Amino acid sequence: MKKWLVSLSLLLLVGCESVLPAQNVNMNAQENNVDQASESTSKDMYNTVTIPKEQVHKGNLVLVNKEYPIHPDAIPADIVYLYENNELTQGYGLLDNTIQLSTNIAQIFGEMIQDADKDGVSHFMISSGYRDESEQEKLYEEKGGEYALPPGYSEHNIGFALDIGSTLESISTAPEGAWLQEHASEYGFILRYPEDKTDITGIMYEPWHFRYVGLPHSKIMDDKNLTLEEYLDFLKEQGNYTATIDGQNYQISFVPVSDHMTIEVPAQHQYELSGNNVDGVIVTIHQNEGEDVEVME
Ligand SMILES: [Zn+2]
Repeated sequence: MKKWLVSLSLLLLVGCESVLPAQNVNMNAQENNVDQASESTSKDMYNTVTIPKEQVHKGNLVLVNKEYPIHPDAIPADIVYLYENNELTQGYGLLDNTIQLSTNIAQIFGEMIQDADKDGVSHFMISSGYRDESEQEKLYEEKGGEYALPPGYSEHNIGFALDIGSTLESISTAPEGAWLQEHASEYGFILRYPEDKTDITGIMYEPWHFRYVGLPHSKIMDDKNLTLEEYLDFLKEQGNYTATIDGQNYQISFVPVSDHMTIEVPAQHQYELSGNNVDGVIVTIHQNEGEDVEVME
């Protein structure tokens, strides 16, 4: 078996700003937060990627809670009003015409709903998606601190969260809720505030609130029963972690924040970057079939 050596090293280039040409490294239509990284091919087999410091606050894995507010630049650029985009809302309802969501996340949600329909579960609706800060402010004032987070501290303000309902009954007892609990992680979504983790999330059980984190992360979190808080701690502790999800291998590495973060990734390999919104960036490399990815510090 062929072995790639991936050197994940932090190069401290004192007095030297990034001179690499800015180039789009967005290799996956589902990822829209890596466009500021620059990339150059240093050898045949590797690309050297310089990660901008701002990446710490951007990407599918950013932690948003009472402690860590969103960075305004982290809001995806593809947020739309769902009622204006019929092609995105096939097979489920909307509570009203104010609901906004990232187009990318809406597409993935739509695929999930189609699969649920094949299982005979088909009464979904979205009751809340992206909320801008003025909407959050209004909610916070109306509902109070016990039921709503202040503006900037809610996952709804970054566009990665959606509240899902059933048109049959409460989501906590509806087949739609049960189906999501079992299958949402296969599509990149996590139940963000589980019943048995309220001490960690600091938020009461919300069977309706799902957060997009993307694959393979949602599956790993589900398999290990980890909240986003716990998963990000886990990745930091591990440094490098290899996961196999549905036969696909992934190398996941934590890169602590520094003035100049540089990583080398094998050419031809798909990868994604996401900050944790605290102190580092997670690099997720998709391993090609039949290869191992070995990471060296
Ligand atoms: Zn919510």
